[in-house]
Order: sequence, then C-alpha cells, then structure tokens
Amino acid sequence: MSKIAIFPGSFAPFSVGHQSIVDRALPLFDKIVIAIGINSEKNQYFSIEERLEWITAVYGKNPKIEVKRYEGLTVDFCKNEKANYILRGLRDSHDFKFEKNIAQMNKELNTSIETIFIITPPELSHISSSIIRDIIKNGGDAQQFVPKEIDL
Ligand code: ADP
Repeated sequence: MSKIAIFPGSFAPFSVGHQSIVDRALPLFDKIVIAIGINSEKNQYFSIEERLEWITAVYGKNPKIEVKRYEGLTVDFCKNEKANYILRGLRDSHDFKFEKNIAQMNKELNTSIETIFIITPPELSHISSSIIRDIIKNGGDAQQFVPKEIDL
C-alpha cells in the first residue's frame, strides 16, 4: 500500500516554514497532497486560486506532490485521497497544544489515519503566515519569508 500524506493548511501565503516541512517529509511518503482548506469562516487575504498557483510554482514539477483544495473535514478528504497520514508542522508549545487536540479528535473520527508532526528548524520557527500578511498589508517586503518561486 502506498504511503500518502495530506498536508492541510491555509497557506496564506505558503512560507519557507511550510516548504521545510514538505521537503523533510518527502522521503517518508510516496505522495504528499498539499491541501488548501476552504474555510468559509476565515476571510482570506489571498484567493484560493492565488495560493494554488503559488504552491504549484514551488512543487509543480515534483511527481510526488499534488496541490489541491478541499472543503469539509480533513479526515473525509484523506479518505477521498486514500491517504492514511496527516502531516503537520510544529513550531512551539502553542502549536503543540493546538495540534494535539486536532490530532486526537481526528484519530477518534477515523482510527486508520495517523498525524505525523515535523518540528521546524530553529531558524524558521518565528515565521508565520499571519505575520507575513501583516508585513504585506503595511507595505513591507516579505519576499524573504516565502520560497523563491513565489512572487508576492
Ligand atoms: P492552519 O490554518 O491549518 O494552521 P497554516 O497554513 O497556518 O494552516 O499552517 C499549516 C501547517 O504548517 C500547520 O501545521 C502549522 O503549524 C505549520 N507551520 C506554519 N508555519 C510553520 C513554520 N514556520 N515552521 C513549521 N511549520 C509551520
């Protein structure tokens, strides 16, 4: 059975922190689906199309990576994609607290899905999409915080 992981997130925008998680998870899986969650409650600063294009620009040529959008429960999307793993990144204890609860709830919803965590390297642990958005909104240059293929 091939090992397929979903990497779910808002990716608004996809950062070098996200890239580091995907790159280090690649040897562990046969395929990673980077999945942009469409969350109707969140008024997103970047459109879904823009976020899909950006991530495709980074990984479009990699045959082990797919970029998709999804709506609804992550565990249901995993089932559609025949994925048994959810990939998430951890920066600090705040992420851990939040992620632990989601992973445990997802496990109860579907016992065959395992959440795999990768810890960020220290030099990227301060990078967050929300701060990148704040920099952009205030006219700053956030280019250094996103992969070189993404032109903010
Ligand atoms: P969500 O809205 O689901 O939290 P994000 O796009 O903010 O989506 O993050 C997706 C995943 O990437 C989460 O697991 C988050 O903890 C992780 N992540 C975000 N920034 C970093 C970073 N700098 N280093 C490592 N992991 C990160």
